[in-house]
Amino acid sequence: MTRPNLLGLPPPALREALAAHFRDRGQPDYRTRQVEAWVFAGGVPSLEAMTNLPTRERTALGERFRLDEPVAETVSESPDGTVKHLWRLSDDDVVESVLIPAGGRLTLCLSSQAGCPLACKFCATGWSGFRRQLTTAEIVGQYRASARWAREHGRGLVSNIVFMGMGEPLANRRHVFPALSTLNAGYGIGARRITVSTVGVVPGILALAEREEQFRLALSLHAPVSDLRAQLVPLEKRYPLEEVIDAVEAYARRGGRRLTFEYTMIREVNDALELVPPLAALARRVRAFVNLIPFNPIPDVEWKPSRDGRVREFGAQLEAAGVAVAVRRPRGREIDAACGQLRAARVARQHSRDRHGLDSYA
Ligand code: SAH
Repeated sequence: MTRPNLLGLPPPALREALAAHFRDRGQPDYRTRQVEAWVFAGGVPSLEAMTNLPTRERTALGERFRLDEPVAETVSESPDGTVKHLWRLSDDDVVESVLIPAGGRLTLCLSSQAGCPLACKFCATGWSGFRRQLTTAEIVGQYRASARWAREHGRGLVSNIVFMGMGEPLANRRHVFPALSTLNAGYGIGARRITVSTVGVVPGILALAEREEQFRLALSLHAPVSDLRAQLVPLEKRYPLEEVIDAVEAYARRGGRRLTFEYTMIREVNDALELVPPLAALARRVRAFVNLIPFNPIPDVEWKPSRDGRVREFGAQLEAAGVAVAVRRPRGREIDAACGQLRAARVARQHSRDRHGLDSYA
């Protein structure tokens, strides 16, 4: 029998598993609370670090469970303070996470899949193909190991989490949803400080809306009309724009939750000013805040970022149409921190793009 990784168990399951274990061993109930405290508040990297457990209890715990995190293969720091970790997983694949300091916050961008099956044309991860789903423990492990690095390097506490690293989190709900519970209830990151970013997986958006916790939602929209969206986001064939907007509307209605549209601006592809009115109409309908993100060029794709003047004009016209807008500058460009680039460079010659990806997720 394989030993379960403690990091893969959301708080109630962890408590149950530990309580059963210590009961079997005739140990007092407080042992469960001691281990929980090491896992969550202590954030220790190993069972050996649980120093208030007697040695024989540490050994017994290790015979029944493990506590494994991804191992940092590289850490790169950008002059703007962005820090990227490339994590090696147990099967030697790699994923990345990025720490982004901004305005007193420290945001951690997590990966949810190794690669991605959705193949968006402008995204380096999409081009690198799909390898597999990350487990709950691998998602939580990225957080713990990054948070520990930040603590030990004087960068403070991780205040916000965004699922905007590699992969489509709502195409991996089986592992991402328990990770959300764990980060929130276990590690104490407020639900409103955790953002799930999706390119439009309708059942996932509806499932997120059903959750009691007010996790935030970002929709990577990139186009306010179906024919243009189809050119950028192959998922349009499966979940057309109209259905996606209906789903985010259901999310927005649940307790007045706020959401964000991410709009990657690609020169002469999706930055025509005629697109402002339909985009503004969608944003007003669901009360979305719009982030404009100049396209970050990737290898083998000819597209260029929109010109600064166009980004400003596009934003100004959106605002004039009653929409809240921000322009995001790509962070960590010097370290290829944006959007799967480092891993994509590493695995580029190992895999070709998975064109059947659309059929391979739930
Ligand atoms: N699959 C999820 C999360 C990962 S992508 C999603 O699509 O939302 C995180 C964000 O980075 C998305 O908004 C995506 O559109 C954006 N992005 C991807 N490649 C980019 C690029 N080359 N330039 C700018 N933004 C990019």
